[in-house]
Amino acid sequence: MYLIPIPAFADNYLWLLHDGKRALVVDPGDAEPVFKALAHLKLQLSSILVTHHHADHTGGIDALRNATGASVHGPATEHIPAPFEKLREGDSVSSLGLDFQVLDVPGHTSGHIAFYTPDMNGKPLLFCGDTLFSGGCGRLFEGTPAQMLSSLDKLAALPDQTQVCCAHEYTLANLRFAMAVEPGNAELTAYHEHCLRLRGQGIPTLPSAIAQEKLINPFLRTRQPQIMAAVHGFDASAHDDNTVFAALRQWKNQYK
Ligand code: ZN
Ligand code: FE
Repeated sequence: MYLIPIPAFADNYLWLLHDGKRALVVDPGDAEPVFKALAHLKLQLSSILVTHHHADHTGGIDALRNATGASVHGPATEHIPAPFEKLREGDSVSSLGLDFQVLDVPGHTSGHIAFYTPDMNGKPLLFCGDTLFSGGCGRLFEGTPAQMLSSLDKLAALPDQTQVCCAHEYTLANLRFAMAVEPGNAELTAYHEHCLRLRGQGIPTLPSAIAQEKLINPFLRTRQPQIMAAVHGFDASAHDDNTVFAALRQWKNQYK
């Protein structure tokens, strides 16, 4: 199997997974770069997986479906271009011989889902849309901080080697904030250097891994004493899991 991030818009990745003949694509906000990749690699599109309703994740669905006949699979409670298979936690989607388990991960949007498969080329694989980013997490457009925290807890509980395919290249900006929150984290500093080198060469920083994110992503580390202390400096009223998480998210929103 081959996993390719197709760049789109300013900083989206449309993830393409293929076996040399058939392909699936996740969150095709734009059809054009997907058509180009399919033609270049001589692939037939089998399936379109959708994590949430935002236009930068759904704008290319109709054109791709009309041209290829691919099936569309998306969140049961969100408005995406019909017809599509409506999915919720506990459901699964079979494509390219892989079984993708559906996880409910509300927060960025209220019906956001993620797709997880336990063995892709020997490692688990996660498509998490705009829920988890490397070094950060999605903005809370529809959900509550408590929902997002529990969604991120669910993703953090996946196996360490899980390859994490996020929908945006936000890593360097996220890490700049992460280092402001946790300046003493040596793993974080080293990862930032690594990602700077990658971006300097035009290489994606993704996929990340769950183990890496648990070491460096402040939004997966809100129960660490040094992070709680830093958040307290931003908002002295933050006192428990949900309020610390909410204050950290607010801090990031305002961070320049
Ligand atoms: Zn989004
Ligand atoms: Fe997005």
